[in-house]
Amino acid sequence: MSRMEVAQFRCRSDNFGLLLHDPASGLTAAIDTPDGEVIWRELQSRNWQLSHIFNTHHHYDHVPGNEMLKERTGCTIVGAKIDAHRIPGIDLQLTDGEQYLFGNQAITMIETPGHTMGSVCYFVQEDRFLFTGDTLFSMGCGRLMEGSAQTMWHSLQKIMALPEDTKIYCGHEYTLTNAEFALEIEPGNKALQARANKVRELRRARQDTLPVSLSSEKATNPFLRPDSAEIQKYFNLQGASKTEIFAAIRTHKNQF
Ligand SMILES: [Zn+2]
Repeated sequence: MSRMEVAQFRCRSDNFGLLLHDPASGLTAAIDTPDGEVIWRELQSRNWQLSHIFNTHHHYDHVPGNEMLKERTGCTIVGAKIDAHRIPGIDLQLTDGEQYLFGNQAITMIETPGHTMGSVCYFVQEDRFLFTGDTLFSMGCGRLMEGSAQTMWHSLQKIMALPEDTKIYCGHEYTLTNAEFALEIEPGNKALQARANKVRELRRARQDTLPVSLSSEKATNPFLRPDSAEIQKYFNLQGASKTEIFAAIRTHKNQF
């Protein structure tokens, strides 16, 4: 099995452009297209030919480069079947758990509704890369723009069931403000304190805080930690259901 390469770079103000490249087959996929021109320049500078676009959801800052890049490269646009009507230029529609062979590795689409009802993640099976779009951020999760807290919590549990060493790439660099919120509701979490310090250092040096491992997220991301006694106490929800605790965290974050 050959290893894939990921190029991560800034688009717009805080979106990530992401390219997945398979050196063996020469295939290159863009995960979302926040800025077609920036993605185009990145492809040129690396001498990579765009063969695919994998869209995580339909929002204006995730699909705007779809049609322009397809026109220039003839690439295949892959997205969720449930969202086909709002993914510009979609060619291939996948459903939950469906695998797509990219070079010699399978990429599994995982439906993760909540931020939008058509939001999906892409899991690169062998390399264990997970592209989460706006569903999961480092120490945060997407706003519930279409789904309920119950729907989103169910989606996050699907992500939590992946291998611990899964490397997470997401749609935005929101980590520093997410860390401040996490520390507000779980100040005694040692792993969180350490990650927050590291994140402050990285941001001071203008470096990205992604990718991050799933095990690190499980230890630090409050949205994955409704089991935490400290978080339950903060919200006065000791013994409440995980969905209720997740919902309280999400609501509080909206006002933070
Ligand atoms: Zn979004």
